[in-house]
Amino acid sequence: MRRARRRPAQRSSPERLLAASILEQVETGRRLDVAWEASDAPSSPRRAWIRTLVYGTVRLRGRIDSVLERHCRGPVGELDPEVRTALRMGAYQILEMDGVPDYAAVSQSVAQLKATRKRAAAGLVNAVLRKVVASRYGRHLFPDPAEDLAGYLETWGSHPRWMVRRWIRHFGPRVARELVDVNNTEPAVYLRPVGMDAAQAADALNRADLHASVAKGAEVCRLRPGVDPGDALRVVPGVIQDPAASLVADYVSPDPGSVVADLCAAPGGKAMALTDSAAGVIAADRSRQRLARVSEARRRLAARAWLVVADARFPPVREAGTVLVDVPCTGTGTLRRHPDGRWRVSERDLRVLTDVQRQILRGAAAAVPRGGLLVYATCALEPEENWGQVKRFLARHPDFRVQPGKAPGRFLDSRGCLVVLPLESGFDGAFAARLRRTEG
Ligand code: SAM
Repeated sequence: MRRARRRPAQRSSPERLLAASILEQVETGRRLDVAWEASDAPSSPRRAWIRTLVYGTVRLRGRIDSVLERHCRGPVGELDPEVRTALRMGAYQILEMDGVPDYAAVSQSVAQLKATRKRAAAGLVNAVLRKVVASRYGRHLFPDPAEDLAGYLETWGSHPRWMVRRWIRHFGPRVARELVDVNNTEPAVYLRPVGMDAAQAADALNRADLHASVAKGAEVCRLRPGVDPGDALRVVPGVIQDPAASLVADYVSPDPGSVVADLCAAPGGKAMALTDSAAGVIAADRSRQRLARVSEARRRLAARAWLVVADARFPPVREAGTVLVDVPCTGTGTLRRHPDGRWRVSERDLRVLTDVQRQILRGAAAAVPRGGLLVYATCALEPEENWGQVKRFLARHPDFRVQPGKAPGRFLDSRGCLVVLPLESGFDGAFAARLRRTEG
């Protein structure tokens, strides 16, 4: 055990208080990336440290809670939010952050709680974290994967039980386990250039001492860890985008001279990428607030895009040569990048979302002229959201058929759909089906 000795009372560090305030916003339903960007953390000199603490605490919440619950005599989820946050952050520092001495993790967590209205629980936080220091990650704290794989993936793997159970069912035990492991790693950051190719962009970045390389299989540059994405965007016009999303944008492959109506466009990564291959892009979204981010990207890139607030079930255009619906989904392909997603989405959401996706696909089809294209895309891994949705649509719309778009062969399945799986590619997960409406 590293030292957990008594020290004089102290104030919690500003970095920890900032981290706690971001985590508390996430607890109330705010998206982690939104809370992070809106906080002062991105401009702090200790940005990387705060990010590791915040993102790590969210990512390993299930694992940490299973350790804490051994010492709390009850579910962590039932504690007051301030107490819960102090315990989770403290345990994450003790168990995962080698640079933080145990005594600092314990005393700073106690000080952090004393800065809240729940100061009476300081004794509890102190006692529980001291027990975490003493027990660390004993094997006995987690189920044996050979006997209870779902239990192991829920605790050590830090994913909700309903999710791992369905992955074991759909993908098999080995893939489910590997997927969980991959989701608990930190993804690289990629820049998709707009108006130049990835090789030119990587050259420009390296000349500016912002180290980058072209990613294998997608038109994006992988930024070396430590390179600030904002600095990179000041050198190369583009968007920060995972290769999987970039592959979807390329797979759309609009017909020459065709305008793309991107009906679920915000925050606008694919819409901006498509301005390179389309005659113009109509970027629509139901959320005015999220559309503001598309507006900012359009201004920064001086892109040929027209913005409109609209519901994709009732498209704002009568006809467009190419209609893209990158539908709201469970996002289970992006849980590495958005670790809060695993705790936000429920099995019920999956049912609601598949219903919304079906309605959007049906509504969008009405805006596709004969001979035109309809592209359906998700960043989910769930079969019902992907081929299941397209199969059902094709059964009711015999005038549409799958016609593959531009993509490396290894990302096309036997039907011509784009399938990007995190395990095989190292990218996020994504799915897309390019559907041509027949002329006749
Ligand atoms: N294509 C975007 C990109 O590449 O940046 C990501 C799209 S995101 C997966 C789904 C979007 O659909 C969200 O911005 C959400 O506001 C929007 N949305 C949800 N329901 C919608 C609806 N009925 N009509 C239009 N947009 C909707």
